[in-house]
Amino acid sequence: MTAQPPVSNDLDRLATVRKSIVRAIESVGRKTDVVRLVCVTKTIDKNRIQSILEAGHRHFGENRVQEAEAKWPELRKRFPDLRLSLIGPLQTNKVREAVELFDAIETVDRPKLAQALAKEIDRQNKAPELFVQVNIGEEPQKAGVAPGEADAFLRQCREAFGLRIAGLMCIPPLGEPPSPYFALLAKIAARNGLTRLSMGMSSDFERAIQLGATEVRVGSGIFGERS
Ligand SMILES: *Cc1c(COP(=O)(O)O)cnc(C)c1O
Repeated sequence: MTAQPPVSNDLDRLATVRKSIVRAIESVGRKTDVVRLVCVTKTIDKNRIQSILEAGHRHFGENRVQEAEAKWPELRKRFPDLRLSLIGPLQTNKVREAVELFDAIETVDRPKLAQALAKEIDRQNKAPELFVQVNIGEEPQKAGVAPGEADAFLRQCREAFGLRIAGLMCIPPLGEPPSPYFALLAKIAARNGLTRLSMGMSSDFERAIQLGATEVRVGSGIFGERS
C-alpha cells in the first residue's frame, strides 16, 4: 500500500467526522445546523491548516495563546471569515492578546479572569463569545469552576462584570463513560438559561451531540494522533 500525502488524509478524516456528526444529530432528531465542528489545530502547522481552510472549513480551536499568535494572524489575512476559539487555560497577563486573536474564549473559569476579560473587551470594543468552563468531574488537576459553584459564578460574570456568557464548556474525566458528565453540563446550562454547550472531542463527540452539544472540539480525529 502506498502512503498518501498527509493533507489528503486530513481532508478524508474531516469528511468522515462531518458525516458522523450529521448521523449523530439525526439519531436524536435535532436540526442539522445546530452543531459546530471546532477543528482543533494545536501542534498542527500552518500548511496543513491552510488546506483545511481551502477545503472550506472555517471554525478552529487552539489551546495556547502563544502558539495561536504565531500561526493565525497570517491565516486570518487570507481567510478573514475564519473563527478561532481558545480552548485552553488563559492567564490574566495574556488577556489582551487573547481578545485580539480569538472570536470565542471557552475557558472563563475564575473571577479575576472574568474581570480582566470584561475590562479588555470594553477597551478593544470587541465581543468574543464567552463560555464558562466547568470542571465537570471535579478533578483537582483540571481547570474550571466546580459544578456546585457554576450558578454563582455565572451570576457574578453577568452582574458584577457585565459579561455576556454564551454557554458552558467541559472536558470529562479520561477513561470514564462521558455521558453522565455531558448530561450534567446540559442541566447546569439549562437552569441558567444558556443555549450553547461545548463538549465532545474525537473519542466521544457523537455522544456529546446526542446530549445537546452545540460545539464539538475535534483534533486527532481529523489530523491523526499528535506527536
Ligand atoms: C486537544 C483538545 C481537544 C481535541 O482533542 P482530540 O482528542 O484530539 O480530539 C479538545 N478540547 C480541548 C480542550 C483540547 O485541549
